[in-house]
Amino acid sequence: MKETIYTIPVNDAYEAGHPCPLCTLQQKLDSDLVEYYLGPALMEPDVRKTTNEKGFCQKHLTDLYCSEENRLGLGLTLHTHIDDLINDLHPGIEACRPGSKKNLFKGREKDYRKNIREMAQRVKKREDGCVICDRLENTMDRYLDVIFYQYFIDADFKKRFDEGQGYCLPHLSFLMYGAAKYLNQNQAAEFLTQLSCLEKRCLETLRDDVEWYTLKYDYRNQDKSWKNSKDALPRAIRRLSGDCSLKPRQ
Ligand SMILES: [Zn+2]
Ligand SMILES: [Zn+2]
Repeated sequence: MKETIYTIPVNDAYEAGHPCPLCTLQQKLDSDLVEYYLGPALMEPDVRKTTNEKGFCQKHLTDLYCSEENRLGLGLTLHTHIDDLINDLHPGIEACRPGSKKNLFKGREKDYRKNIREMAQRVKKREDGCVICDRLENTMDRYLDVIFYQYFIDADFKKRFDEGQGYCLPHLSFLMYGAAKYLNQNQAAEFLTQLSCLEKRCLETLRDDVEWYTLKYDYRNQDKSWKNSKDALPRAIRRLSGDCSLKPRQ
């Protein structure tokens, strides 16, 4: 694998040395994509076709709105997306009701529960669709490929990985699924030995920081140093949930 557009962001994230480089990569990608779908691309017919058909999930709709950029553009995108929804879903919703004269479920009119469920499933599919999530998933998979590739050919990268500050739980499982998908038996054995060691070390430190945070509530420890535990709760929450929106108080 030669140097690709995915190599630089991966190396930047690992060189930054923050906990969970995959959160760093995902956050950056997430905000770039929100910016992209509010930028000039939204007027391109191909882009519009996908945003009409796929739409955005709850998180990304909120992000698009809260970015406070290009509300007109967001309005135009949502207008044609809603139009697509009406054309796609309305005939089916109308036809699945018992007694409907529409013949979309021809021959199955009596089985109204099945028809309603089938339509509910289609609505759910539209609800879950998100063009940003799809691209995120795709690009994160490319990043994974770069991470594994570099891990086994670049000693500096491997060292940075092995001596890093570990991964949040969602990205730990992401890496493990990736290892199962991309690595051969020997590579998987080496990678998981290091990953397990790294996560154990980082989680034990975090556990001790959280414990000291609770012990500081004991009046006997009142005057003792906080050590590294002042922001232990938001750090623990980020580590457990992968939610990077929670910033430690300064
Ligand atoms: Zn993460
Ligand atoms: Zn989404």
